[in-house]
Amino acid sequence: CGIVGYIGHREAYPIVIKGLKRLEYRGYDSAGVMLYDAESGIKICKTKGKVVDLEAKAKNGFTTNGNIGIGHTRWATHGVPNDVNSHPHLSNSGELAIIHNGIIENYAPLKEELIKRGYVFHSDTDTEVLVNLIEEVQKKENIKLGKAVQIALNQVVGAYAIAVFDKKNPNELVAARLGSPLAIGVGEGEYFIASDASPFIEYTSNAIYLEDGEMANIRLHKPLKIRKIKDDSLVDPYIQELQM
Ligand code: GLU
Repeated sequence: CGIVGYIGHREAYPIVIKGLKRLEYRGYDSAGVMLYDAESGIKICKTKGKVVDLEAKAKNGFTTNGNIGIGHTRWATHGVPNDVNSHPHLSNSGELAIIHNGIIENYAPLKEELIKRGYVFHSDTDTEVLVNLIEEVQKKENIKLGKAVQIALNQVVGAYAIAVFDKKNPNELVAARLGSPLAIGVGEGEYFIASDASPFIEYTSNAIYLEDGEMANIRLHKPLKIRKIKDDSLVDPYIQELQM
C-alpha cells in the first residue's frame, strides 16, 4: 500500500500515477486518485485492481488536469477490495478528501456516534469514519483543516499515514503519520508527499521524513509547519539531502 501527494505548479496527475507505480512493490489491491482544479472542484477516480487499471478507467472521461492531487494504493483491512472501498474517500459534505494507509482500531464506536449525528457511510472502511470525524470536528469548532485533523487524530486509536485535502482551502494538504511511513519532498514552489522518497526523487533532493506522531501543514508558497499531534508543539523540520 502507498500514498502520494502533490501541490505545486505542475500537473499533479502524471506525478501521482508515476509515484503510485514506484510504490507498487509495497503490495495493494486497489488504486485511486483525487485531483482538484478551481473549475471542476474535487474529482475522484478509483478502482479495484492495479494502477494500470486506474489509468484505463481515467481514460474514460476523467479529466486529469489540476495542480494538486493525492493518490493511494490500498491493502484492504476493513471492507473487501472493491471500487467503493477504494481511496480517496470523501466526507459527507464532499469538501474533504482523504487517503489513508493503516488501521483505525476504534472506528466502530466513532462510526456509531457519527451515524447518530446524521452521517451516512458509503463504504465499509475505517477510513471513511476518520474523514467524517475530521469534518464533524471542523464544523463543531469552526476551525481550519490542520487543527481539525489534529483533534480528530487525538481521538483515534490505530496506525496511519494520511493526507487530507479541504476544498474550502485548496492551497493546502495536511499529512500525518503514526506507525506508517511518510516522506515530504520540498521543491521550489512545490511539495510532494509519499510513503517513501522514490515518487519525488527526480524532482527534488530535499526530503523530510515525518516521525511517528507528527503532522505537517503543507501550504503552497509558505514554509512547512510540522508539529506533534499530541501536544501541538512545533518541530524544526529536518531536511535530508537525498542522493539522486
Ligand atoms: N484500513 C484502510 C482500508 O481498509 C486502509 C488500508 C491500507 O492501508 O491501504 O481501507
